[in-house]
Amino acid sequence: GAPKAPAELDASKLVISLAKELKPLPTPEELVFGETKTDHMLIVNYDPVNGWGTPEIKPYGPLSLDPMSSCFHYCPNVFEGMKAYVGPDGEARLFRPEENMKRLARSADRVALPPFDTKAVLELLKRFIEVEQRWIPTQPGYSLYIRPTIIGTRSALGVHASDSACLYAIVTPAGPYFRGDAKGISLLAVGESVRAWPGGTGGHKLGLNYAPGFLPQRLASKQGYDQILWLFGEDERLTEVGAMNVFVVAKREDGDIDLITPHLDGTILPGITRASTLQLAQAHTAGKIILPGVPANTKIHTHERVVTMSEVLRLADDQRILECFGVGTAVLVAPVGRIGWRGKDINLPVHKGGLGPIGNGLRTAILEIQTGVRQFEDWSVPV
Ligand code: PMP
Repeated sequence: GAPKAPAELDASKLVISLAKELKPLPTPEELVFGETKTDHMLIVNYDPVNGWGTPEIKPYGPLSLDPMSSCFHYCPNVFEGMKAYVGPDGEARLFRPEENMKRLARSADRVALPPFDTKAVLELLKRFIEVEQRWIPTQPGYSLYIRPTIIGTRSALGVHASDSACLYAIVTPAGPYFRGDAKGISLLAVGESVRAWPGGTGGHKLGLNYAPGFLPQRLASKQGYDQILWLFGEDERLTEVGAMNVFVVAKREDGDIDLITPHLDGTILPGITRASTLQLAQAHTAGKIILPGVPANTKIHTHERVVTMSEVLRLADDQRILECFGVGTAVLVAPVGRIGWRGKDINLPVHKGGLGPIGNGLRTAILEIQTGVRQFEDWSVPV
């Protein structure tokens, strides 16, 4: 007969084997981001003959891989970062998880990993979170970080696309990302190393985008800066901040507010928090919601466009910058206090508690949606 087509990923085939002994839960105070290992992991393998195999939830433990595996050499490795939140009603929810699944599929496609049914992966993640439910911290600002990952497992050294893959997910309880963010994070603007470039991979969530940032990050830390503000091009355009998208809030001549972020030109990760930030600001201006603490008649104009360092400096000198912040799943909204550039610091307005009114309004609204306190579109999805 004709050769069988490789199997699709089928969530209904899930097999669950629970850990014999469960680990003690950490106290909120001792949580360090990304260090706590939970009881279980989700895993499913793909091979070119059989396609996607049987998905499993099983006790957390090491992977066993052939040393020739493609992931160790050529980095066909992609991942996502998302969170589960427990609201005051005790329900576990995900925030716009279909967006993470779409981005994961785009990332996999970019490095020629096998395609998968995004709905099936989301279904498996929900089952996995149900199993790990006791690990979701309930304190405000805490959540369970979810790290779906796909690695190429072709065990041969030829420089080719990996025809085999392992999709797995792990979770880790997370507290507020930056402690002491009351004064805002400090950024070093860096243009001599670049994170991403036109035609490159910056717009995808690939493991290989991150390692080249480690050395510049170490040098920035040595100079006393928390994170790097990645610049690009002769005109020193802002791209991203560490693993966050960047926003500038500026006062306009007419009294309205501009909310400015670099446009998605392929060098910038299309952050889900970034998209949500823009949509919520627009909804506020349209009167569809009111951002907590922001007057209802405040008009926020959103701009996705080129932002250069000289523009930031000019806006800062003219005292037109009201706020600057980074946004991302891990941090939510993190205020920026100063930016080091060309040997000098650009100091940004300091607000009590860290964030200014716009950043705080956005952060509060997103948190409320994530924890089911507020409904907006279909952004909050029960597990
Ligand atoms: N930029 C980069 C480089 C990132 O790694 C992340 C984290 N995923 C973000 C931005 C923020 O994206 P999101 O809001 O989807 O978490």
